[in-house]
Amino acid sequence: MITSKKMRAMVLTRPGEPLVARELEIPQPGPKQILIRVHACGVCRTDLHIVDGELPEPKLPLVLGHEIVGEVVATGKSADRCTIGDPIGVPWLGSTCGACRYCRSGRENLCDNARFTGYTLNGGYAEYTVAHQDYCVRLPKQYLNVNGAPLLCAGLIGYRSYRMAGDTVQRLGVYGFGAAAHILTQVAVHQGKQLYAFTKAGDTEGQKFARRLGATWAGDSDSRPPDELDAAIIFAPVGALVPRALRATAKGGVVVCGGIHMSEIPSFPYRILWEERIVRSVANLERRDGEEFFKIAPEVPVRTEVRTYPLEQANEALNDLRAGKVEGAAVLHIGE
Ligand SMILES: [Zn+2]
Ligand SMILES: [Zn+2]
Repeated sequence: MITSKKMRAMVLTRPGEPLVARELEIPQPGPKQILIRVHACGVCRTDLHIVDGELPEPKLPLVLGHEIVGEVVATGKSADRCTIGDPIGVPWLGSTCGACRYCRSGRENLCDNARFTGYTLNGGYAEYTVAHQDYCVRLPKQYLNVNGAPLLCAGLIGYRSYRMAGDTVQRLGVYGFGAAAHILTQVAVHQGKQLYAFTKAGDTEGQKFARRLGATWAGDSDSRPPDELDAAIIFAPVGALVPRALRATAKGGVVVCGGIHMSEIPSFPYRILWEERIVRSVANLERRDGEEFFKIAPEVPVRTEVRTYPLEQANEALNDLRAGKVEGAAVLHIGE
């Protein structure tokens, strides 16, 4: 039940400035949209890039947040895929055009005209949000809470990166052990892979955390793993890790830069790319990533470690993330 017409929201009015608490009108769903009462919304590194003005031309004023879990409370007049009361997740990919050459060739994550939740569309740092029904994910009921929120970005980007590492991978390295890595590790271990976790030098807590989640080995990112890797995924925004990861891979190895904005990659000798090694990036998501991931997640079952903040403390959450003070994932707990 919607009892008032207003909702609380944290709003970005200008990049470089803190978010401001506002009372906004509850949005009305368009024909193909659903209105969602937000239970929780994850705070992602991309949100920091938007706040800091590193991503061009956000919608302004903007409600950030693209790791939304909530419940359907109203549907647009042509929205027929959800029922009121359904648990639902809203990820980064908010809509695509269906007409450009990327959409037509099954690469909607690269759509020229895509719109993104919490960037060019309003997101989930608010009590309510609207989203296009076809771009939402059906959320298994056990994830309708703060622990489900990080799955919508960290989980999906991690899963897509994992998919891009290839099916034949047995030994998988992960550089940067934050939100995406801790989710992905559980999936990889569940699927019988050996996982090698690389953390910042001296981060013994992070290494312990990785071992607790089933990693075969955990060590500093400048050390060599005891075995050659079939693939490595880099979640840390550090370009210097690319040649390091390449050196750690076997012939035919794949190095995936997992959906992050990296510092410059230093030059490296050709021989570490030789023997059909591949370096690639991952950008955005396809709807398929969400469908597949949310089938696997309850089977594992994936659990997340979160640190929660009330909606009004979104700025504190962003600052803690910036300062590297959050183990696991930061999540705004907005309602029940
Ligand atoms: Zn994100
Ligand atoms: Zn398109």
